[in-house]
Amino acid sequence: MALTAIKGFNDILPGESGRWHYIEEAARRVFELNGFSEIRVPVMEKTELFCRSIGDATDIVEKEMYSFTDKGDNSITLRPEGTAGVMRAYIEHKLHALDPVAKLYYLGPMFRYERPQKGRYRQFHQIGAEITGVHDPLVDAQVLNMLTAFFREIGLDEPSLQINSLGCPECRPAYRAALCSFLEARTGDLCEDCRRRLSTNPLRALDCKVPGCIQATVGAPSVLEHLCTGCDDHFSAVRSYLDLTETPYSINSRMVRGLDYYTRTTFEMVTTLLGSQSAVAAGGRYDGLIQQLGGPAIPGIGFAMGVERIALLLGQREFASLPDLFIATMGAGERNAAFKLMHGLLKAGVRVEMDYEGKSLKSQMRRADKLKACFSVVIGGNEVASGSAAFKRMSDGIVTEAPLTVAGFEAVLAQGRGISPHHLSTPVSE
Ligand code: ATP
Ligand code: MG
Repeated sequence: MALTAIKGFNDILPGESGRWHYIEEAARRVFELNGFSEIRVPVMEKTELFCRSIGDATDIVEKEMYSFTDKGDNSITLRPEGTAGVMRAYIEHKLHALDPVAKLYYLGPMFRYERPQKGRYRQFHQIGAEITGVHDPLVDAQVLNMLTAFFREIGLDEPSLQINSLGCPECRPAYRAALCSFLEARTGDLCEDCRRRLSTNPLRALDCKVPGCIQATVGAPSVLEHLCTGCDDHFSAVRSYLDLTETPYSINSRMVRGLDYYTRTTFEMVTTLLGSQSAVAAGGRYDGLIQQLGGPAIPGIGFAMGVERIALLLGQREFASLPDLFIATMGAGERNAAFKLMHGLLKAGVRVEMDYEGKSLKSQMRRADKLKACFSVVIGGNEVASGSAAFKRMSDGIVTEAPLTVAGFEAVLAQGRGISPHHLSTPVSE
């Protein structure tokens, strides 16, 4: 039997990893600018953590978790999302005692047993951010602005921001009751899952992707019409801060989230380009979660973005960092000079490649093309003797004569490109 990866688990191959670095580096830049620090937590937690935070009657906990019993008879789960583990760590290490206002971000793999398809995998990656300790709607708007800034930073107009409010434990029960009686009159049209969850989690029906449920919930009561004064004022303030900073958004009163801990502001970044995998990022407030997990009554808000979906949206642009120089040699006699020059350039932070195997000049030049080197140089006996060589810019064949030294090539680079491609943080080419 051929050994292959587990279904729904992907390899990120070298041709693809440049795109991932581009996404991850942009996220780090934008988040750190906003005062967030990285937190790294384990990929496995006690199963109970996820049951207590995400909620027993959610798709994730009911069907999607990778849970198993370890050799010590403990029930362990590969994390299906990041917030629960981050908040567990926040409570366990009493980060709130240091400062209740923590701004944390994380990135890494998550695991859900779902049906694999484009944009939906069993191991996937999220980049997420959380702010604890602030009730004020200003912070909701800052989080949304940061999310918007991230997509601007990576150069995507898609996706667009949708927001909603899910109310709080004061007003949600009345909404739930109103929705329940609406749904009960249409039980026959609902899918089995939604019917079963009528009593435990009726809000899920609004997010169900089964066509019958989409149809049956047209005209369902809106959560926004059931908000208490506190939640209504909070949501108005979030919107007015977004208006103040001219952040584009739309209101989607049918948006509910697949995790039970959300309160008040919830949001998604949605795209029309990925079929039913329309959510590229999602999040919201979770004012009760920290307390629910045994910590103090401290509110929180955060989001997670799906890296695979962002990578799909970025499309086929080239993100690899390309060599600045390829050194070819006429013959074996010049390999010492070439190797020494390469060593010096690498020490100086210049990306350089050379022929490793003493191949023909023609095949060396083919390799320079294949590696998409910016410049090439051929070192022969004359070059070694004179200490100077012709550096050729590969894009247009323009040749610059310069000393065969680190400083010599750096001068060529500075004059030829302004800045070496390896120092660029933006994609090298469209
Ligand atoms: P969906 O509605 O597409 O199932 P979700 O509501 O389950 O998404 P969240 O739990 O909010 O997703 O996770 C945040 C983000 O993580 C999503 O917006 C998406 O970009 C990404 N994501 C979630 N599940 C997967 C998956 N199985 N494969 C790839 N990306 C995923
Ligand atoms: Mg899902």
